[in-house]
Amino acid sequence: MKIAILPGDGIGPEIVTQAVKVLNALDEKFELETAPVGGAGYEASGHPLPDATLKLAKDADAVLFGAVGDWKYDTLDRPLRPEQAILGLRKNLGLFGNLRPAILYPELANASTLKPEIVSGLDILIVRELTGDIYFGQPRGVRECPDGPFKGQREGFDTMRYAEGEIRRIAHVAFQAAQKRDKRLTSVDKANVLETFQFWKDIVTDVHKEYPDVALDHMYVDNAAMQLVRAPKKFDVIVTGNMFGDILSDAAAMLTGSIGMLPSASLDANNKGLYEPSHGSAPDIAGKGIANPLATILSAAMMLRFSLNKVEQADRIENAVKKVLAQGLRTADIYEEGTTKVGTEEMGNAVVKALA
Ligand code: NAD
Repeated sequence: MKIAILPGDGIGPEIVTQAVKVLNALDEKFELETAPVGGAGYEASGHPLPDATLKLAKDADAVLFGAVGDWKYDTLDRPLRPEQAILGLRKNLGLFGNLRPAILYPELANASTLKPEIVSGLDILIVRELTGDIYFGQPRGVRECPDGPFKGQREGFDTMRYAEGEIRRIAHVAFQAAQKRDKRLTSVDKANVLETFQFWKDIVTDVHKEYPDVALDHMYVDNAAMQLVRAPKKFDVIVTGNMFGDILSDAAAMLTGSIGMLPSASLDANNKGLYEPSHGSAPDIAGKGIANPLATILSAAMMLRFSLNKVEQADRIENAVKKVLAQGLRTADIYEEGTTKVGTEEMGNAVVKALA
């Protein structure tokens, strides 16, 4: 199996190096090929997503991505900025399902802003639709307001829309993910106000007929936001649209205290995916050897589980991460008194050792 390795910018190369080390330490052997992306792609060939990088990503069975972006590229034209690479990859690879687990290892319970008893042992998965909704719906723009009390003034407008097939395919991803976990799925909508989300609710309910082993419930997005901070452990898998998912997944990420711990996956219709940490390229700490590589290592574990069907190897990596945390090893972002502070490379080495 071939994995495209796209380290990117900032801390990207440092953290991806550790994940590659972990992959190479498994019994299973993979063909790994590296290519530049983001600012590194721009430096190499004048574009954040060079043709050769895109071809490699298309040909591979899965993509392991670090992070892109650096303030020094902020003055470039928008299409040349590093962040465009990730949008280009999503579009060209047809990645529509974003999986964002929020896991709080008991050892890190103090890192959360919520009380430890509310979040300790948290393990939820947010499935966010990635290509539709109000973010991409047409028409959109600024025009002369055609009616109402502000008629004749300028108004901004966007269009919220979801096609049946779009809802069905993300619902299948979510039900299948729930089948691999605690078999509970919460579909989050705003069906009481929005036609689009009444339709969403009806379609998800229909897809549920194919997954009788999964318990489905529906929740309005405002209530879901409240429940996420009140009793987040009640959730197993949450599925929702692009905008609600954008907001809820960041809220869920913060429950766990450190962004350096959170992996993510973006999947296509055949479970081929791009795997990356939820954080950015952290230019403020790049090159210092202090970045937390665990989100990237856990992204590699997700890749084995969801795209490469190597569930045992994924379990091994996740257990190794638990083990190093139990040993008290911490990078600076998750350090607290009484634990041992380690750098990026030491953390990677410790995970490799713990695999055994
Ligand atoms: P960021 O996630 O890079 O950093 C936010 C804060 O978290 C910083 O203080 C950083 O030091 C810290 N941090 C992030 N990852 C860490 C890790 N693994 N270990 C320890 N600390 C970590 O977000 P930002 O500062 O807003 O953005 C920096 C750059 O990253 C920007 O150019 C932005 O566009 C880009 N970005 C890229 C992606 C992506 O590649 N998918 C996502 C978000 C932001």
